Amino acid sequence: MTVLVLGGTGEARELAKELVARGEHVISSLAGRVARPKLPEGEVRVGGFGGPEGLARWLTKNDVTAMVDATHPFAERIGANAVVAARETKTPLLRLARPGWTEQPGDSWRWADDLDHAARLLPGLGERVFLTSGRQGLAAFAGLDDLWFLIRCVDPPEAPIPRRHEILLDRGPYEPAKERGLMERHHIQVLVTKDSGGAMTAAKLTAARELGLPVIVVRRPPRSGTTSVSTVQEALSWLCVTTKGIPA
Ligand code: NAP
Repeated sequence: MTVLVLGGTGEARELAKELVARGEHVISSLAGRVARPKLPEGEVRVGGFGGPEGLARWLTKNDVTAMVDATHPFAERIGANAVVAARETKTPLLRLARPGWTEQPGDSWRWADDLDHAARLLPGLGERVFLTSGRQGLAAFAGLDDLWFLIRCVDPPEAPIPRRHEILLDRGPYEPAKERGLMERHHIQVLVTKDSGGAMTAAKLTAARELGLPVIVVRRPPRSGTTSVSTVQEALSWLCVTTKGIPA
């Protein structure tokens, strides 16, 4: 029995760890975007498959029993590829995605449909921006020459990026007090984030609430075509039923 976990998230690593602990053969797949990724337990492969056809071939060649798409909520393409490849090869597919964040009393959030929309919302909300949407898609903010950006990402971003900026290379987990200190030191007036969800990077939202700062939250792109769960335990239960062998 072989389980393919499409990874790049904390949930994917947690699922791999649970499967290894049960003595199952799990292969985690990473895109290879990050220079020094946090590696999951068990077998790991790195790099694209070559579209849905390549993934379908890979599933067949490796005799995959079931596939769990535990990629990031904003990794749209690989999710769509997994749906197509699963259908072609009749491989059971599950989507594992943590829930998005919810606005709380004291928050001042504006929802954006995508990064371009977020960039259009920014002028008027503040001139000093904490941009935490990751290194991809920064071109959306590149024309905003009147604003200054603190850009935080894991690896250095590629041009085009906003002209007036400071880059902070870092990765979670983060703590509210440190996030608040960072925002105060840089005189941040507005925060931009994707609705990534999860506890690892939620501290910035607490800090923004405490500082009374507006937040632009980019909505998740829609994902469809497969059964979806939000916890590792639910994914294990699904694997137990689907494979009739893996203990939940
Ligand atoms: P994407 O746009 O959905 O995928 C682009 C291409 O990268 C895919 O077509 C696929 O290439 C390859 N790919 C993506 N994830 C893969 C995986 N787990 N294993 C093997 N190939 C993969 O993805 P993305 O937004 O660039 O994200 C890349 C990875 O970073 C994802 O695995 C995701 O979990 C992680 N990540 C993304 C974000 C984000 O904000 N997007 C944040 C944190 C982590 P082929 O077509 O050649 O197979």
